[in-house]
Amino acid sequence: MEKLYAWANPVWALSSTMQAIRNGFLLCLPLVVAGALAVLCNNLPLPVYQEAMRTLFGPDWRQGLFALIWQGSFGILSLPMVIGICHSLVLVHNQKSPLAPVNPVTAGVVALGSFVVLLPPNDILGHIGVQGLFVGILVSLCAIRLFLWLADVKALQMQVYSEGMASAPQAFSCLIAGMLTLSVFAVIGIGFRAAFGVSVQELIHDLVLFPFRLVFFHGMLDTSIAYVFVTHLFWFFGLHGTNVLDPLTRDIFEAATQANLLAQAQGLPPPHIVTKTFLDIFVFMGGAGTSICLLAAILIASRNHGSRRMAKISIAPGLFNINEIVLFGLPVILNPVFLVPFLLVPLVLTCVSFVAIRVGFVPLPMEALEWTTPPILGGYLATHSLLGSLLQAFNLALGTLIYLPFVKISDRIKDEGQRAAQKKLLEIALSNVVGPSGKKCLDRDDEVGALARTLAHDLEMALETGEGLYLEYQPQVDSRTEQVVGTEALVRWRHPAFGPVAPPIMIAIAEDAGFIKPLGMWVLNEACAERARWQEVGLADDFKTSVNFSALQLDDEGLPDRVVQYLDRYHLARRTIGIEVTESVALDPDARHNQILIRLHEMGFAISIDDFGMGHSSLVYLKYFPVDVLKIDKVLSKDVATSKTSAEVITTIVELCRALKIKIVVEFVENQAQIDRLNELGCHIIQGYFYSPPLSGDNMLAYARRMNAAANAKHRE
Ligand code: C2E
Ligand code: CA
Ligand code: CA
Repeated sequence: MEKLYAWANPVWALSSTMQAIRNGFLLCLPLVVAGALAVLCNNLPLPVYQEAMRTLFGPDWRQGLFALIWQGSFGILSLPMVIGICHSLVLVHNQKSPLAPVNPVTAGVVALGSFVVLLPPNDILGHIGVQGLFVGILVSLCAIRLFLWLADVKALQMQVYSEGMASAPQAFSCLIAGMLTLSVFAVIGIGFRAAFGVSVQELIHDLVLFPFRLVFFHGMLDTSIAYVFVTHLFWFFGLHGTNVLDPLTRDIFEAATQANLLAQAQGLPPPHIVTKTFLDIFVFMGGAGTSICLLAAILIASRNHGSRRMAKISIAPGLFNINEIVLFGLPVILNPVFLVPFLLVPLVLTCVSFVAIRVGFVPLPMEALEWTTPPILGGYLATHSLLGSLLQAFNLALGTLIYLPFVKISDRIKDEGQRAAQKKLLEIALSNVVGPSGKKCLDRDDEVGALARTLAHDLEMALETGEGLYLEYQPQVDSRTEQVVGTEALVRWRHPAFGPVAPPIMIAIAEDAGFIKPLGMWVLNEACAERARWQEVGLADDFKTSVNFSALQLDDEGLPDRVVQYLDRYHLARRTIGIEVTESVALDPDARHNQILIRLHEMGFAISIDDFGMGHSSLVYLKYFPVDVLKIDKVLSKDVATSKTSAEVITTIVELCRALKIKIVVEFVENQAQIDRLNELGCHIIQGYFYSPPLSGDNMLAYARRMNAAANAKHRE
């Protein structure tokens, strides 16, 4: 019932449909970009280049390599698009019905078949490229809904189990649903052909074009406005507007160009202002949506890392009016924020350019150019006048201005999304839950996973250069004497775009991505270097810097020797560095990583058990395990002043630690009441905001000197 409601809920259905179409496009991005670049390579408007290609590869060079790439990309784009949309919708379905999942590949194949049965049998190849997208999207949406509905019907599910089926799960259970879906579309195809004499695809195209054929009057402004508007509306929905309306473009605007040329040859004034060349050079600068203006607006005003990256990648093809990367990648397509400027900019520029030419300010563009001719150059070449370039420059500035506020809005929305994703990522990083693949966040199929992957990539880069990575040190103070007795080294990363990234996120993604070991050793090296600097200016040997070690660092037999090497590098005694591991890692005397901890302990490194009190505190294990320091976690320390239970638990820990000669450090101590209560309970080494937040290395040293000097003075009094 709930599921029925979800399907029936139009808002939900619409947003998941839009998302699926967008995902479909994104999954096709390699093909889209390869196709766009192939088109550019075939049409690069440089006479030298064209000549060189002709000489090198013969007069038919355009039918060669780039044509093949086109054939394998734009030439078949509808097919992967159908599969991509289905894939996306099936994943949503499977999340909602985890007990009755459907294989996304099976679903994609069924939808693909349903699409192909609707094509004209004698010209299938001519209908599966970009021009087939519209019908492709429509059919995949309908076919997948039908298929999923049928697949959910218990009576139609075949449960067969045989060996070897694990590699194609659920293939049999959907067998009948798949056959039925395909058959339904085949019947629709036959029905259409019988009723209208054409295929569904041809009929839909005719229907879409019909109103335009009726209302278009050649070369008039209102015609072009309608044309520009509708082209962009198609584009916005992910349909290659120029291609969908291709017959019209040819019938009207290319014809207008021809009519002008004819009139010019006869010495008559050219009858049309708006021609294909007019639109190409004054309106479609950078591609549909005058998207070069969008790129400029992003580079001027956006603070969003991802948008800027996308704009930088898109600028080179954008100069040749190829904009698939930004349209599908940003995305602009189906993105409500950009709907208004994407439609408005081309309309405004059409009007402005029309007026500029009508009043005689700019000559009429008479030279037909390749559509790949870059802006500014195109204006001059087409009008034989610098005024043509000037009008283009004016249009570029105007278009950029219109895009600017929308780029800001998009930034704000993306920021909010990213903040939410970061929050979720932090929750995941702090939890102990890992996915089926053993990873916490990196292989998630959502925004959080995407953010984690971006961060993982950037963190690995940062680790190579050290850029943005540094350590902070939080003092540990003896509350009886107010002497600073040690410090904990805490890793920090300032991401160039996202700002400071929470350390638990860094650690979780480094663990997932497999570079926690180099990251851990980077931290150790920095901490040793800083500790050596403090040593030089006179800090005593017994001032300990504790370094956090992740569990995954501890499955390495060579670790103890390597740690010693790092200390030797800086001539540090072993008592200057401590090793912190969390409670969940330690306290299992049989585990392999504990053998490594035991060796480290025997070598003279103090082992701290971090976050004690968080998990299943197994006090007895402390007896068998070489623990030197126990760090009491916030769950116990935060409410020690008010909670009897916390105080009692701490009392037990203190008694045991006294017997076993284990030192105690209490974390998250923020106020005097906590200090007083902890003193009564016998806990004196305090790490928390009450004394100090984590500090830079220099500030840590200054803090220790100041506190210790004051403590010594007090002692002498
Ligand atoms: P942790 O080891 O328990 O470190 C203590 C955390 O508590 C630090 O957060 C510190 O800034 C914060 N903290 C200390 N006193 C107070 C207080 O009084 N109030 C409040 N609200 N917070 C306090 P941070 O630096 O964000 O580190 C979080 C965790 O990230 C660490 O928890 C540790 O598990 C991990 N981590 C940090 N650096 C490293 C590292 O170099 N290696 C590894 N493996 N993990 C690290
Ligand atoms: Ca710690
Ligand atoms: Ca801790």
